[in-house]
Amino acid sequence: ERTVQRIAAGEVVERPASVVKELIENSLDAGASRVAVSVEAGGTEGVRVRDDGVGIPEDQLEAAVAEHATSKIGDIEDLDRGVGTLGFRGEALYTVGAVSRLTVRSRPPGAAAGAEITVDGGDVGDVRPAGCPEGTTVEVDDLFYNTPARKKFLKRTATEFDRVNTVVTGYALANPDVAVSLEHDGRETFATEGNGDLRSAVLAVYGREVAEAMVDVAWAPDGDGDPTGPDAADPPVRGVSGLVSHPETTRSTREYLATYVNGRYVTASALREAVLDAYGGQLAPDRYPFAVLFVEVPPGDVDVNVHPRKLEVRFDEEPAVREAVEGAVEEALLDHGL
Ligand code: ADP
Ligand code: MG
Repeated sequence: ERTVQRIAAGEVVERPASVVKELIENSLDAGASRVAVSVEAGGTEGVRVRDDGVGIPEDQLEAAVAEHATSKIGDIEDLDRGVGTLGFRGEALYTVGAVSRLTVRSRPPGAAAGAEITVDGGDVGDVRPAGCPEGTTVEVDDLFYNTPARKKFLKRTATEFDRVNTVVTGYALANPDVAVSLEHDGRETFATEGNGDLRSAVLAVYGREVAEAMVDVAWAPDGDGDPTGPDAADPPVRGVSGLVSHPETTRSTREYLATYVNGRYVTASALREAVLDAYGGQLAPDRYPFAVLFVEVPPGDVDVNVHPRKLEVRFDEEPAVREAVEGAVEEALLDHGL
């Protein structure tokens, strides 16, 4: 039987990066094609996420910031089925509002006017009219101002910003069809175009040198001579795609080796090891390649262990997944004479 560890609400908001993660998730769930994130002092003083999604009708603003409020019925079941959705059902805005000054301002496309609601340390204010563009803007100021113990737990602003950057980068690369931007203290860190092209997203996020060192990975169970496993009708791996770097374009930490299962950013030692194995002895000691690798598997074959900062998964068909990923990356490198 699969085990899904759900998180206590209090653990949802651990630091600015966890706030950013929740707000971006909401924007993507709202079908946004643009998500603009800006933070002050690493997010400790302010976080703002603006999107052009479906918006929140005025008469639903209060519910959106209430406990256990979710408009996303079925998510719990989705979570049990695999990595289709993340945890924290209907808790994020409520929890953030309890430990900050939160403003949610929204105008659904076509609505005549916008409206906003503020929550100050858990005190919910009245819904007021607000001038705003179509879509939703969520502002989180003075995170943990009323919970000094948690505030003390935060690191230097540069460290907090690094974590924010990692989160926003992860979503930008996973969603190349969405224009994602990040700004820190008024200065732009990166902005993807949202044109659907993964390489162009990598260029925006990691720069030209890295983008030019990436090779395409494209593997499918049929069509390239690879074994498809005992049950070809429902192969244990449906596809492996993305980009990996030349073996000499590396970093000393593995955070640039990003893996996604069924569209979700995950950490999985099986995937990481399979990628590293594909490079054989070509990597210098303690060096990690860049990778943006999407692995598609039947949702029922993934065990999810939700954690505030990461999403760890295990695979029922781990040997097949390893083999497919290693083979896919190896083939991509070989194709480029690497
Ligand atoms: P959940 O995402 O689990 O439903 P949240 O507390 O994150 O819970 O959000 C509560 C509700 O507020 C969502 O179900 C959604 O209806 C609404 N909401 C939050 N953010 C947005 C957004 N950016 N665009 C549209 N609706 C939103
Ligand atoms: Mg949410």
